Amino acid sequence: MWVVPESEIAGLMTPEAAFDAVEAVFASMARGEAYNFPVVREAIGHEDALYGFKGGFDRAALNLGLKAGGYWPNNQKHGLINHQSTVFLFDADTGKVAAAVGGNLLTALRTAASSAISIKHLAPAGAEVLGMIGAGHQAQFQLRSAAASGRFTRVLGWNPHPEMLARLGETAAELGLPFEAVELDRLGAEADVIISITSAFSPLLLDVHVKGPTHIAAMGTDTKGKQELDPALVARARLFTDELAQSLSIGEFQHASAQNLISDSDVTAIGRVITGDHEGRGEAEITIFDGTGVGLQDLAVAAAVVELARQQGKAQKVDI
Ligand code: NAD
Repeated sequence: MWVVPESEIAGLMTPEAAFDAVEAVFASMARGEAYNFPVVREAIGHEDALYGFKGGFDRAALNLGLKAGGYWPNNQKHGLINHQSTVFLFDADTGKVAAAVGGNLLTALRTAASSAISIKHLAPAGAEVLGMIGAGHQAQFQLRSAAASGRFTRVLGWNPHPEMLARLGETAAELGLPFEAVELDRLGAEADVIISITSAFSPLLLDVHVKGPTHIAAMGTDTKGKQELDPALVARARLFTDELAQSLSIGEFQHASAQNLISDSDVTAIGRVITGDHEGRGEAEITIFDGTGVGLQDLAVAAAVVELARQQGKAQKVDI
């Protein structure tokens, strides 16, 4: 099997390569060539950790495997970040383990790719103001990936903990984008595209804040109970997601669905827009992409990085 250590990922994987890998697998999902396995997520009763598996099989790319890992809130004492994960790939022809790949940076890159893909396919024409809600670890990646489209001329930011915004401002400056910390009503009125990436458990962006045309990539809600958007805002938007089942159970649309404000048929897999099977934004004033994070994204970026590592002699071969 090939081993690609976490320390090599930054030198191998680019946001562009992650974008291509994730866009391709979203399309495979829409064509019925790739599917995700049920997610396992357990509070293990040790170190307050949440541990689990996200896996799947992409028949088109022959990517089979899983990401194992989770969230260890006390990792600072070990000098480690709280999110820890590893991707394992298996030979789809034989079942033999094919690769073990550090999954921490890859998770950030595949999540950032997901919102960037939604922006490519769903942003209103002429969109140039980006609004960022959230300023934690993941927000920097979302901002970088969105900026790579080259369409944004300035960034507005809001965060429940305003002191964290300075770091996001530094990232924007690095990208050559003017940055302004604003209140949510201004962000909702002026931003053409909004990315939300917080661990909120109650709505931050309200229906009254948003003046269209706007595209919103809701990326923070990946667990039952988390919530970033007002269900009334969800109810008046055209809705897209990476995977319908996850969106309605653990994603942002769980709330509007539970309140019967939307039905399953109101939500479209973004892969259908990528393949040209759905018109996407159309005449909609507001579009929302619910990025819940699927195992197939992890497999796609891991397979891409194994290929790059092998080409560049950075993959280690281990017999197992
Ligand atoms: P982080 O801990 O670095 O940052 C947390 C962010 O949420 C900050 O902006 C913080 O101000 C805000 N926040 C913290 N507690 C809050 C609360 N109680 N109410 C409102 N806001 C609060 O986390 P991160 O790595 O940046 O991840 C942000 C979110 O994105 C998390 O919910 C994480 O689970 C989720 N996530 C989703 C995916 C996906 O594929 N959709 C992938 C990775 C992370």
